[in-house]
Amino acid sequence: MTSVIGPHNGEHGVSGRRPSRLVYSEAPILIYWETTRACDLACRHCRAEAHAERDPNELTTSEGKALLEKLRGFGKRAPHLVLTGGDPLKRPDFFTLLEHSSKLGFRLSVAPSGTDALTQEVLRRFKNCGVESISLSFDGSTPERHDGFRGVPGCFVRTVEAARAARAEGLDLQINSLVTMQTREDLPEIYRLVSGLDVMRWSLFFLIQVGRGQGIREITPEEVESVHNWLYDLSKEASFAIATTEAPHFRRVALTRMRAEGIPLAKIRETSVGRGFGIRDGNGIMFISHTGEVYPAGFLPLVAGNVRSADVVEIYRESPVFKRIRDTAQFGGRCGRCEFRETCGGSRARAYAAYGDPLAEDPACGYQPGEYGLQLVNLADE
Ligand code: SF4
Repeated sequence: MTSVIGPHNGEHGVSGRRPSRLVYSEAPILIYWETTRACDLACRHCRAEAHAERDPNELTTSEGKALLEKLRGFGKRAPHLVLTGGDPLKRPDFFTLLEHSSKLGFRLSVAPSGTDALTQEVLRRFKNCGVESISLSFDGSTPERHDGFRGVPGCFVRTVEAARAARAEGLDLQINSLVTMQTREDLPEIYRLVSGLDVMRWSLFFLIQVGRGQGIREITPEEVESVHNWLYDLSKEASFAIATTEAPHFRRVALTRMRAEGIPLAKIRETSVGRGFGIRDGNGIMFISHTGEVYPAGFLPLVAGNVRSADVVEIYRESPVFKRIRDTAQFGGRCGRCEFRETCGGSRARAYAAYGDPLAEDPACGYQPGEYGLQLVNLADE
């Protein structure tokens, strides 16, 4: 299963002009649809605990098409749609769904798995269907390390080939990498690998212990801080955007360092990090499972409703799950007191995984509110 990660800049990734926070309560900027949970890989951190066979209860072709039509109801500007899995290519009707998405005017990304099914011909068809970008994953800098994580020998080599083929077809490429105790030391080598692949973005996913990920160890808050500072340094020399997923505290680090360097706020807002301010699980992000359940994010298994029985637009705008999670005044612990709560807000998914409360503090962040001596930093709302 490929990690469910956005194809843009900043946390989860956001491109283009940043809408106000008010807009996020009306419409997501990124929608992830897990088209299937079927996948031929057996990744050690898989959120979906994917299996080789498709779930007979997954949304049918006509249900999928109806869902796509409903998703256009968020307003004139279509959200960016990420078709993910499992491996979306395990659905025989995947190109039918892709063509329908394209006709409806979505900006499209696909998150396929690095298997033999991802051929040059398939990548060409993606491009012809209007797909802008694909994401692939490297969780190790060598075949031994990566294949060990992905559970299938040969996956590393196939992923390198697919990355080159995607660029040859003119598809933008995002590489996702997992940050855990096991991968931490290898990150500089993964960065070198990614640097040679002509990518648009490198996105680092800070493990949430859900699904198979429960058997893997997260790095400590001190190490998170150190990785964030390292990423900020790299972002100055890298020829591609560097983003984090489920680690919005990277914004605090980047914002504080940019301010210390004298960069004006207006310029900061235009950076890849700045465009992501305020976006987090359930606030600008929505995830739809293979059976139509709607979550605030793929790593936050709190069901807000099901597209089979309720209007997906209404679920996002009105369900108690989404409304609560968007309300930073209800956040607890350090996130509730933090001057960065609007800009960052912590990973709601990690809070839920750690404490069973999506409004609790994010335990991966080591920041003590007030430490920097700042007032509320509310760049998300302006
Ligand atoms: S305490 Fe919470 S809101 Fe503040 S920087 Fe850390 S994760 Fe973000």
